[in-house]
Amino acid sequence: MIEIDGSQGEGGGQIVRTSLALSLLTGKSFRIFNLRAGRKKPGLKRQHLAALNAAAAVGSAITTGAEIGSREITFEPGEISAGNYEFEVSTAGSMTLVLQTVLPALMLADSTSHIKLIGGTHNMMAPPFDFLDRCYMPQLNKLGPDVQLALNQHGFYPVGGGQFEATIEPTTSMKGIQIVDRGKLIQRRVSAVVSQLPLTIAERETKRVVRKLNWDRVKIENTEASNPRGPGNFLLAELVYENVTEMFCGFGKIGVTAERVADGVVRDVKKYLKTDAPVGPHLADQLMLPMAIAAEFHGEESSFRTAALTQHSKTQAAIIRTFLNVVVEVNEDEVSTIRIHR
Ligand code: ATP
Repeated sequence: MIEIDGSQGEGGGQIVRTSLALSLLTGKSFRIFNLRAGRKKPGLKRQHLAALNAAAAVGSAITTGAEIGSREITFEPGEISAGNYEFEVSTAGSMTLVLQTVLPALMLADSTSHIKLIGGTHNMMAPPFDFLDRCYMPQLNKLGPDVQLALNQHGFYPVGGGQFEATIEPTTSMKGIQIVDRGKLIQRRVSAVVSQLPLTIAERETKRVVRKLNWDRVKIENTEASNPRGPGNFLLAELVYENVTEMFCGFGKIGVTAERVADGVVRDVKKYLKTDAPVGPHLADQLMLPMAIAAEFHGEESSFRTAALTQHSKTQAAIIRTFLNVVVEVNEDEVSTIRIHR
């Protein structure tokens, strides 16, 4: 059984999800101790428990410690079963992170899977549905599988109740990908969604982002969530290039003005545009996993350029090295180059 110290590096939930994903694929059992010790409230939260239970269902696994607050878990995977699944977090826990946990095993399974996910679709500190759909999946699909997503219902903190679906056509031969430059700019898009809140909030946010970034040719969308389950608001600035789509988001909060939400997004976009690195900080840690899988199981090399590596990415690399026999080569600089190969 692989022993994993959950306090290493970032010390958060990503260590749990990446270990689950790689355990399912490799058949290696693991134990995590000091689970989420780097966080204010350590141990399993609802979202991580949902990921653990989802992984156990997909991989017929035997688990211990599968309860809220648990600081130690063990996971012994069995056989992977593709098929139809429904996973739910009763609160607004991020369901995009739950999907990313079971996706690696299902994208290499022997038949199609269809998953319905119920809970949070747009959470702070997690990939919003739109990021998964337009930034992450297009890159994942270039690696081999065909994963299609559909959003049925927005789900915001704290009420949740959002819903989306994923159809996963697996692949038997993954390819490596190289994301070296952005390519030509195809589109700029600024969009905001409000749920049970005035549309003027969305309008103020998008207007401010466009003005502060001095963007002229830009697609603007202000939308009210249909069939809302609870109050919520998010703002996205999206840059679509030939080789990569990047997205920066902000979330409305009680006591925070629309203008301040917009300013946070403007700051992140400016940071991204300061270098010519194609891959932003979040896409970087998320793509490392499928790229490492392509290297381990299909001998395919991938690489990408990103601005200075985050602690999330460094921790991701450490967990990948724990389970797989691959080299994650990091050439760290103002713009870092990551090469992942056998
Ligand atoms: P905790 O930090 O409470 O332990 P967690 O389980 O939510 O919780 P992290 O370990 O922080 O997890 O991982 C969060 C994941 O969400 C990372 O992969 C990170 O890149 C991604 N993420 C966070 N914010 C965004 C964002 N704005 N856009 C895209 N991805 C994001």
